[in-house]
Parts: sequence; C-alpha cells; structure tokens
Amino acid sequence: MKKRKPNRSWLDRLFELKPEDAGPEDKAQEPKLQPALRQIGITGCPICKHEVAVFLTKNSRPFINCSFCSARIFYNGRESMRLLKKKMKVVEDE
Ligand SMILES: [Zn+2]
Repeated sequence: MKKRKPNRSWLDRLFELKPEDAGPEDKAQEPKLQPALRQIGITGCPICKHEVAVFLTKNSRPFINCSFCSARIFYNGRESMRLLKKKMKVVEDE
C-alpha cells in the first residue's frame, strides 16, 4: 500500500511560500543591488545649500540626492544641466 503524502492545507502552503522559492526562472529577474552611480561632481543643494554630490543616473542625467534635507533634484533639461555645470565642482573618479 502506498503511503499518501500528508495533506497540507492551503494555509500551511501559503506560509511556506517564500519569494525566493518562486523558481529558477525568476532568479534572473531578481532586482539587483543598485549599482553604484557615478559621481560627477559636487554642488550646493538648491534647497538647503549644503554641499552635495552630483551623480549620474543610468540615463546620463545628473541628479542630487541631498543627505541633509532629503531633496532629490533631477536635471533633465539642457538649461538646468548648463546651469549645473557652471556651479558644479567636477570630480574625477578615474
Ligand atoms: Zn539639501
């Protein structure tokens, strides 16, 4: 006589489900740790005036993530980038 697997209720299975057990296909789509964004310079935060690092996003747009006042500023236009370049102290990281 075959032994039957113990029946588990859907509730038990629900608690056993973990996101990382979703399957091998999903492994490739796991969000990677954010790659370190390249710092291109230092400028004054327009909000709190602290000196903050200027990073480059994946779309090659400068942005500030101010650690003092939590302001996030993206420089998406040509004019804002031009003004930023005038004020920004360029850092060479390589
Ligand atoms: Zn700030």
